[in-house]
Amino acid sequence: MSHDLTLAELRGFIFDLDGTLYRGNTVLPGAAEFVAHLRRVGIPLLFLTNNATTPPQGVVDRLTQMGIPAGLDDVFTSAQATAATLAEEAPNCRIYVVGEVGLRDALRAAGLALTDDFREADTVVAGMDREVTYLKLRDAALAIRRGARFIATNTDRTLPTELGLIPGAGSLIGLLEIATDVPARVIGKPSAGIMALGLRRLGTPAGLTAAVGDRVETDIIGGQAAHMPTIAVLTGASTAEQFAAMRPPPDWVFEDMVALDRAYFGA
Ligand SMILES: [Mg+2]
Repeated sequence: MSHDLTLAELRGFIFDLDGTLYRGNTVLPGAAEFVAHLRRVGIPLLFLTNNATTPPQGVVDRLTQMGIPAGLDDVFTSAQATAATLAEEAPNCRIYVVGEVGLRDALRAAGLALTDDFREADTVVAGMDREVTYLKLRDAALAIRRGARFIATNTDRTLPTELGLIPGAGSLIGLLEIATDVPARVIGKPSAGIMALGLRRLGTPAGLTAAVGDRVETDIIGGQAAHMPTIAVLTGASTAEQFAAMRPPPDWVFEDMVALDRAYFGA
Protein backbone atom coordinates (compact mmCIF):
# COMPACT_ATOMS: atom_id res chain seq x y z
CA MET A 1 0.00 0.00 0.00
CA SER A 2 1.28 3.41 -0.90
CA HIS A 3 -1.16 5.21 1.44
CA ASP A 4 -1.82 4.82 5.15
CA LEU A 5 -5.42 5.45 4.41
CA THR A 6 -8.57 3.54 5.15
CA LEU A 7 -11.25 3.18 2.52
CA ALA A 8 -13.71 5.12 4.69
CA GLU A 9 -11.41 8.16 4.62
CA LEU A 10 -11.78 8.64 0.86
CA ARG A 11 -13.54 11.94 0.05
CA GLY A 12 -13.88 11.73 -3.74
CA PHE A 13 -13.98 9.21 -6.57
CA ILE A 14 -12.83 9.40 -10.19
CA PHE A 15 -14.39 6.51 -12.06
CA ASP A 16 -13.34 4.86 -15.27
CA LEU A 17 -16.36 3.83 -17.35
CA ASP A 18 -15.96 0.81 -19.64
CA GLY A 19 -15.15 -2.31 -17.65
CA THR A 20 -15.71 -0.42 -14.39
CA LEU A 21 -19.31 0.88 -14.38
CA TYR A 22 -20.56 -0.83 -17.54
CA ARG A 23 -19.52 -3.29 -20.19
CA GLY A 24 -20.80 -2.53 -23.67
CA ASN A 25 -24.41 -1.56 -23.09
CA THR A 26 -24.82 -3.38 -19.81
CA VAL A 27 -24.42 -1.74 -16.42
CA LEU A 28 -22.16 -3.78 -14.12
CA PRO A 29 -23.50 -5.18 -10.83
CA GLY A 30 -23.50 -2.67 -7.99
CA ALA A 31 -22.37 0.29 -10.12
CA ALA A 32 -25.64 2.23 -10.09
CA GLU A 33 -26.11 1.51 -6.39
CA PHE A 34 -22.60 2.64 -5.37
CA VAL A 35 -22.91 5.89 -7.33
CA ALA A 36 -26.37 6.53 -5.83
CA HIS A 37 -25.03 5.87 -2.31
CA LEU A 38 -22.12 8.28 -2.88
CA ARG A 39 -24.50 10.97 -4.13
CA ARG A 40 -26.80 10.47 -1.14
CA VAL A 41 -23.98 11.28 1.29
CA GLY A 42 -22.59 14.08 -0.88
CA ILE A 43 -19.26 12.51 -1.88
CA PRO A 44 -18.02 14.23 -5.08
CA LEU A 45 -17.44 11.99 -8.07
CA LEU A 46 -16.38 12.26 -11.71
CA PHE A 47 -16.76 9.92 -14.68
CA LEU A 48 -13.46 10.16 -16.53
CA THR A 49 -12.88 8.38 -19.82
CA ASN A 50 -10.08 8.07 -22.36
CA ASN A 51 -12.78 7.79 -25.03
CA ALA A 52 -12.33 10.88 -27.21
CA THR A 53 -14.98 10.07 -29.80
CA THR A 54 -18.20 10.14 -27.77
CA PRO A 55 -19.22 13.71 -26.87
CA PRO A 56 -19.83 14.39 -23.15
CA GLN A 57 -23.60 14.54 -23.73
CA GLY A 58 -23.42 11.05 -25.26
CA VAL A 59 -21.70 9.77 -22.12
CA VAL A 60 -24.35 11.49 -19.98
CA ASP A 61 -27.18 9.88 -21.99
CA ARG A 62 -25.58 6.44 -21.86
CA LEU A 63 -25.02 6.54 -18.09
CA THR A 64 -28.50 7.88 -17.45
CA GLN A 65 -30.09 5.16 -19.61
CA MET A 66 -28.19 2.58 -17.58
CA GLY A 67 -29.63 3.83 -14.31
CA ILE A 68 -26.71 6.08 -13.37
CA PRO A 69 -28.20 9.59 -13.63
CA ALA A 70 -25.47 12.05 -14.65
CA GLY A 71 -25.05 15.64 -15.83
CA LEU A 72 -22.43 17.28 -18.02
CA ASP A 73 -20.52 18.42 -14.92
CA ASP A 74 -20.02 14.77 -13.94
CA VAL A 75 -18.26 13.79 -17.17
CA PHE A 76 -14.71 14.44 -18.32
CA THR A 77 -13.30 12.96 -21.55
CA SER A 78 -9.76 12.87 -22.94
CA ALA A 79 -11.03 15.15 -25.74
CA GLN A 80 -12.07 17.76 -23.15
CA ALA A 81 -8.78 17.33 -21.30
CA THR A 82 -6.83 17.81 -24.54
CA ALA A 83 -8.83 20.94 -25.34
CA ALA A 84 -8.39 22.35 -21.82
CA THR A 85 -4.64 21.68 -21.90
CA LEU A 86 -4.14 23.39 -25.27
CA ALA A 87 -6.43 26.32 -24.35
CA GLU A 88 -4.22 26.91 -21.31
CA GLU A 89 -0.80 26.34 -22.89
CA ALA A 90 -1.25 27.44 -26.51
CA PRO A 91 -4.55 29.32 -26.94
CA ASN A 92 -3.58 30.68 -30.36
CA CYS A 93 -2.46 27.38 -31.87
CA ARG A 94 -3.76 26.08 -35.22
CA ILE A 95 -4.64 22.42 -35.04
CA TYR A 96 -4.67 19.66 -37.62
CA VAL A 97 -6.94 16.92 -36.25
CA VAL A 98 -6.85 13.18 -36.82
CA GLY A 99 -10.03 12.34 -34.96
CA GLU A 100 -13.79 12.31 -35.01
CA VAL A 101 -16.44 14.99 -34.61
CA GLY A 102 -16.47 14.63 -30.80
CA LEU A 103 -12.82 15.66 -30.66
CA ARG A 104 -13.24 18.51 -33.15
CA ASP A 105 -16.23 19.84 -31.20
CA ALA A 106 -14.33 19.73 -27.90
CA LEU A 107 -11.41 21.67 -29.38
CA ARG A 108 -13.71 24.28 -30.95
CA ALA A 109 -15.72 24.59 -27.73
CA ALA A 110 -12.49 25.57 -25.97
CA GLY A 111 -12.04 28.41 -28.49
CA LEU A 112 -9.25 26.69 -30.43
CA ALA A 113 -8.73 27.05 -34.20
CA LEU A 114 -8.67 24.02 -36.50
CA THR A 115 -7.16 23.82 -39.97
CA ASP A 116 -7.34 21.24 -42.76
CA ASP A 117 -4.07 22.49 -44.26
CA PHE A 118 -1.02 20.80 -42.76
CA ARG A 119 1.15 23.75 -43.82
CA GLU A 120 -0.80 26.05 -41.50
CA ALA A 121 -0.81 23.70 -38.51
CA ASP A 122 1.50 24.28 -35.55
CA THR A 123 -0.23 21.48 -33.61
CA VAL A 124 -1.42 17.99 -34.48
CA VAL A 125 -4.02 16.42 -32.21
CA ALA A 126 -4.58 12.72 -32.87
CA GLY A 127 -7.12 10.34 -31.40
CA MET A 128 -9.42 7.53 -32.42
CA ASP A 129 -10.71 8.06 -35.95
CA ARG A 130 -12.94 5.46 -37.55
CA GLU A 131 -12.85 7.33 -40.85
CA VAL A 132 -9.09 7.77 -41.02
CA THR A 133 -7.53 7.88 -44.47
CA TYR A 134 -3.98 7.69 -45.75
CA LEU A 135 -4.28 11.35 -46.76
CA LYS A 136 -5.09 12.42 -43.18
CA LEU A 137 -2.20 10.41 -41.77
CA ARG A 138 0.12 11.76 -44.46
CA ASP A 139 -0.79 15.37 -43.72
CA ALA A 140 -0.53 14.90 -39.95
CA ALA A 141 2.91 13.34 -40.38
CA LEU A 142 4.01 16.19 -42.67
CA ALA A 143 2.84 18.78 -40.12
CA ILE A 144 4.74 17.01 -37.33
CA ARG A 145 7.84 16.81 -39.52
CA ARG A 146 7.54 20.57 -40.08
CA GLY A 147 7.69 21.06 -36.32
CA ALA A 148 4.05 21.00 -35.20
CA ARG A 149 3.56 19.84 -31.60
CA PHE A 150 2.18 16.32 -31.50
CA ILE A 151 -0.57 15.61 -28.95
CA ALA A 152 -2.44 12.33 -28.46
CA THR A 153 -5.82 12.25 -26.71
CA ASN A 154 -5.04 8.73 -25.47
CA THR A 155 -2.98 5.72 -26.45
CA ASP A 156 -5.30 2.77 -25.81
CA ARG A 157 -3.88 0.36 -28.38
CA THR A 158 -7.04 -1.68 -28.77
CA LEU A 159 -10.76 -1.46 -28.10
CA PRO A 160 -12.84 -4.42 -26.95
CA THR A 161 -15.84 -5.17 -29.20
CA GLU A 162 -18.20 -8.05 -29.83
CA LEU A 163 -15.87 -9.10 -32.68
CA GLY A 164 -12.73 -9.04 -30.53
CA LEU A 165 -9.99 -6.44 -29.99
CA ILE A 166 -9.88 -3.81 -32.74
CA PRO A 167 -7.29 -1.04 -33.34
CA GLY A 168 -7.70 1.90 -30.95
CA ALA A 169 -6.26 5.41 -30.86
CA GLY A 170 -2.86 4.06 -29.83
CA SER A 171 -2.58 2.12 -33.08
CA LEU A 172 -3.01 5.32 -35.11
CA ILE A 173 -0.68 7.29 -32.82
CA GLY A 174 1.87 4.51 -33.22
CA LEU A 175 1.71 4.84 -36.98
CA LEU A 176 2.36 8.60 -36.75
CA GLU A 177 5.21 8.09 -34.28
CA ILE A 178 6.85 5.55 -36.58
CA ALA A 179 6.34 7.83 -39.59
CA THR A 180 7.85 10.90 -37.88
CA ASP A 181 10.25 9.60 -35.21
CA VAL A 182 8.46 12.00 -32.84
CA PRO A 183 6.83 10.64 -29.67
CA ALA A 184 3.34 12.00 -28.97
CA ARG A 185 2.57 13.85 -25.77
CA VAL A 186 -0.30 11.86 -24.25
CA ILE A 187 -3.10 13.69 -22.43
CA GLY A 188 -5.38 10.78 -21.42
CA LYS A 189 -4.74 8.16 -18.75
CA PRO A 190 -2.08 7.13 -17.68
CA SER A 191 -0.92 10.74 -17.94
CA ALA A 192 -1.17 12.56 -14.64
CA GLY A 193 -2.41 15.57 -16.65
CA ILE A 194 -5.96 14.36 -17.16
CA MET A 195 -6.17 13.23 -13.53
CA ALA A 196 -4.97 16.64 -12.30
CA LEU A 197 -7.64 18.35 -14.43
CA GLY A 198 -10.23 15.91 -13.09
CA LEU A 199 -9.18 16.64 -9.51
CA ARG A 200 -9.44 20.37 -10.20
CA ARG A 201 -13.04 19.81 -11.31
CA LEU A 202 -13.88 17.82 -8.20
CA GLY A 203 -12.10 20.17 -5.82
CA THR A 204 -10.93 17.30 -3.64
CA PRO A 205 -7.28 16.65 -2.66
CA ALA A 206 -5.41 14.00 -4.68
CA GLY A 207 -4.46 12.07 -1.54
CA LEU A 208 -8.12 11.58 -0.56
CA THR A 209 -9.56 10.98 -4.03
CA ALA A 210 -9.59 7.46 -5.43
CA ALA A 211 -8.95 6.54 -9.06
CA VAL A 212 -11.24 3.58 -9.74
CA GLY A 213 -10.71 1.42 -12.80
CA ASP A 214 -10.32 -1.96 -14.46
CA ARG A 215 -7.06 -1.51 -16.36
CA VAL A 216 -3.50 -1.60 -15.00
CA GLU A 217 -1.81 0.53 -17.66
CA THR A 218 -4.32 3.38 -17.75
CA ASP A 219 -6.48 3.70 -14.62
CA ILE A 220 -4.12 2.44 -11.95
CA ILE A 221 -0.85 3.77 -13.39
CA GLY A 222 -2.63 7.09 -14.06
CA GLY A 223 -3.96 7.34 -10.52
CA GLN A 224 -0.56 6.52 -9.09
CA ALA A 225 1.10 9.12 -11.35
CA ALA A 226 -1.29 11.74 -9.93
CA HIS A 227 -0.49 10.61 -6.34
CA MET A 228 -4.02 9.33 -5.80
CA PRO A 229 -5.09 6.21 -3.94
CA THR A 230 -6.18 3.57 -6.45
CA ILE A 231 -8.98 1.02 -6.52
CA ALA A 232 -8.99 -1.82 -9.05
CA VAL A 233 -12.06 -3.83 -10.01
CA LEU A 234 -11.99 -7.23 -11.69
CA THR A 235 -14.91 -6.63 -14.06
CA GLY A 236 -12.89 -5.48 -17.07
CA ALA A 237 -9.51 -5.61 -18.77
CA SER A 238 -6.95 -6.65 -16.14
CA THR A 239 -6.84 -9.74 -13.92
CA ALA A 240 -6.19 -10.10 -10.19
CA GLU A 241 -2.76 -11.54 -11.05
CA GLN A 242 -1.91 -8.51 -13.19
CA PHE A 243 -2.89 -6.08 -10.42
CA ALA A 244 -0.95 -8.12 -7.84
CA ALA A 245 2.15 -8.04 -10.03
CA MET A 246 2.23 -4.22 -10.10
CA ARG A 247 4.93 -2.40 -8.10
CA PRO A 248 3.35 -0.75 -6.24
CA PRO A 249 0.03 -2.60 -6.57
CA PRO A 250 -3.35 -0.81 -6.40
CA ASP A 251 -4.31 0.20 -2.84
CA TRP A 252 -7.47 -1.90 -3.04
CA VAL A 253 -8.73 -4.62 -5.39
CA PHE A 254 -12.42 -5.56 -5.47
CA GLU A 255 -14.29 -8.26 -7.33
CA ASP A 256 -16.85 -5.69 -8.49
CA MET A 257 -18.79 -2.56 -7.48
CA VAL A 258 -20.97 -4.60 -5.15
CA ALA A 259 -17.91 -5.44 -3.06
CA LEU A 260 -16.57 -1.86 -3.18
CA ASP A 261 -19.98 -0.47 -2.14
CA ARG A 262 -20.16 -2.91 0.74
CA ALA A 263 -16.60 -2.17 1.89
CA TYR A 264 -16.93 1.61 1.67
CA PHE A 265 -20.31 1.90 3.32
CA GLY A 266 -19.80 -1.03 5.67
CA ALA A 267 -23.18 -2.47 4.68
MG1 LIG B 1 -11.95 0.67 -18.46
